[in-house]
Amino acid sequence: MQRALEISKQAPLSKDRYSVGALLTDSKGGEVATGYTSELRSGQHAEECALEKVAARQAILTAGTIYTTIEPCSLRLSGQTPCVRRILAAGLARVVMALPEPASFVHCEGRAFLAAAGIEVVELPEFAAAVLDLNQHLLKK
Ligand SMILES: [Zn+2]
Repeated sequence: MQRALEISKQAPLSKDRYSVGALLTDSKGGEVATGYTSELRSGQHAEECALEKVAARQAILTAGTIYTTIEPCSLRLSGQTPCVRRILAAGLARVVMALPEPASFVHCEGRAFLAAAGIEVVELPEFAAAVLDLNQHLLKK
């Protein structure tokens, strides 16, 4: 998760979206790909980006894990496929996140959605403060 956090710092600061980092590992914990917000396309989600990089060899992700600094989205205002659907389609077994998505933009049900689909969901709250710190500009009231 520390690595996902470092990756998230590469995301361009935006007033519309969180800076998120994601890291994919195979079933043995070996790193497969990384992604951050808006890395390949403006508005692209970190999880989406990492998954897209291995789209041609998706089988490597079977029973693997995605580490993401913020809860994967269950709903996108843009109408794009939400990351939880992409994660399920990729055959991943586990999602590790630092921070549940704050309710600034949409009401996210990523965790519940993933758990209901049989995915192991792990939260690492010890990393939440660092993620919040990086996204402070979006959270001010
Ligand atoms: Zn997403």
